[in-house]
Amino acid sequence: MPGNELQATQLDIPNKATRAIFDKLGGPIKNDIYDPSLINLQNGEALVRVFYSGVCHTDLHAMIGDWPAPNKVQTGGGPLVGGHEGAGVVVKLGPGADEFLKVGDKVGIKWIADACLNCDYCRRGHEPNCAQAKCSGYTHDGSFQQYAVSWARYLTPLPNELPLDEAAPILCAGVTVYRALKEAKLTPGQYVAIPGAGGGLGHLAVQYANVIGCRVIAIDTGSAKKELATKLGAETFIDFKTSKDLIGDVRKASGGEGVHAAVVAASGAAAYEMALEYCRPCGKLVAVGLPAKTNIEANVCFTVFQAKQVKGSYVGNRQDAIEALDLAARGKVKTVFKTMGLSQLNDVYKAMHDGTLAGRVVLDCNK
Ligand code: NAD
Ligand code: ZN
Repeated sequence: MPGNELQATQLDIPNKATRAIFDKLGGPIKNDIYDPSLINLQNGEALVRVFYSGVCHTDLHAMIGDWPAPNKVQTGGGPLVGGHEGAGVVVKLGPGADEFLKVGDKVGIKWIADACLNCDYCRRGHEPNCAQAKCSGYTHDGSFQQYAVSWARYLTPLPNELPLDEAAPILCAGVTVYRALKEAKLTPGQYVAIPGAGGGLGHLAVQYANVIGCRVIAIDTGSAKKELATKLGAETFIDFKTSKDLIGDVRKASGGEGVHAAVVAASGAAAYEMALEYCRPCGKLVAVGLPAKTNIEANVCFTVFQAKQVKGSYVGNRQDAIEALDLAARGKVKTVFKTMGLSQLNDVYKAMHDGTLAGRVVLDCNK
């Protein structure tokens, strides 16, 4: 169902479905057959038929297990189904879930699968920081499967006019960079550097930054990513592998002063090495990319004299997701993606590891 027409038979729950699992760190990903008709939904749960799922670099981190937070495999919880950019349709509701959704609703599965919605963090809209937060494709099985269980109150309603494959990457990549740009508090005409601009998060960040009216300096490598970032509205592209003076090049491209903010959407640790230095005084480094075992170095005197800020930004809340999707539904932001099959996930991870993917890969869960 890439378009919007849903047939009644698409709501039937079969007794055979496929999911992509791994049971040891480093993989490989294996296809596993299961019976969704036997799933016994608990209070507040919904069964979602997933049509498409984007593949985020976070899914690769999860399979490798290189983050300082254990996932389901690492805690001995059994095989993990990754994925947290799932777009699909509700096919069944558990007790009490009809308060939030009805069968046939188009919904999105995000990284945060549920939060308590009642603690200090949740009440202030910092749902990802809730101590009870559950993570799709990490602590809980995610969207790399044809039928996924999630929590009805935290699923995101999808705009009807946005095709499901285009919506999928907005559910993590889109909402994350949208929120990160909010954290950067940029105003029209200001410069923003986006390391990782040719990747899944980055290519959307270039576009959301343009919606705000910023002047975008894209940093990534290779001609495909240069072409993509430039086509999507980056004013300048700097290749981090060939630049001999990255700080100088960014400063030159931002009127000699440096950028007002750097939204680091890169998966590589090196992206953090110079970002604070090419921010101008009063500038802000917004940390988004999550390379393992990486510190942000900041010289105290310069940070103080130049009044610079470092801010982490972790996905977004329910409202951020709705706003990010609305901009996509109105055509202000468009996901650039290649469609592959659920059975090709090992190939996607290899290409992602090698850095050869421009934009996003979206898995067709029927293939
Ligand atoms: P991706 O593989 O699609 O894109 C990453 C891009 O970074 C690639 O184009 C790569 O060429 C580029 N890159 C690598 N090293 C670089 C460097 N030194 N300078 C500039 N560019 C560089 O990955 P993605 O799915 O966009 O995810 C990016 C990172 O963001 C991952 O670490 C992921 O785990 C993280 N992430 C964080 C959040 C959050 O809430 N903060 C949410 C989603 C993803
Ligand atoms: Zn993600």
